[in-house]
Amino acid sequence: MTLDDTLHIDGNAPVGDLEEFFRLAGGDSVPLPQCQDCARFHWYPMGRCPHCQSERLVWRQLDGRATVYAATTVRHAFTERTRGQTPYGLALVTFDEAPEIRMVCRAIGPAPAIGDAVTVRVEHDPASGDIGMIWCRLTDEEDRS
Ligand SMILES: [Zn+2]
Repeated sequence: MTLDDTLHIDGNAPVGDLEEFFRLAGGDSVPLPQCQDCARFHWYPMGRCPHCQSERLVWRQLDGRATVYAATTVRHAFTERTRGQTPYGLALVTFDEAPEIRMVCRAIGPAPAIGDAVTVRVEHDPASGDIGMIWCRLTDEEDRS
């Protein structure tokens, strides 16, 4: 699979290559674009590698295991969508398989703290016409073994 340059800007639809990201995600696997020339990952998806400008990109499925790099708690709903859902945790995570990548995730359950092991999960329901969500939850001890 390769990235495409398609842009979709119609209301709540995912924009550009994020649509492919959400389409490829499932379970606890997290797709990330990887350059075939310099082998580095990048995030957000782009039509060219931001490190070497190569257009030879492929999607790689990561297992979703990550570590919290920074965390906060959201106490104010900034959109109608999140009204009534506060407070909730947000985490900036780095992936075990791609430690150079940092991705923002919304926490399920207790708000994670810096250094916590988390599992990232991407959800997208194409039928909803809504953008997808990137979630993380504290990793159980059994998940790490
Ligand atoms: Zn590259």
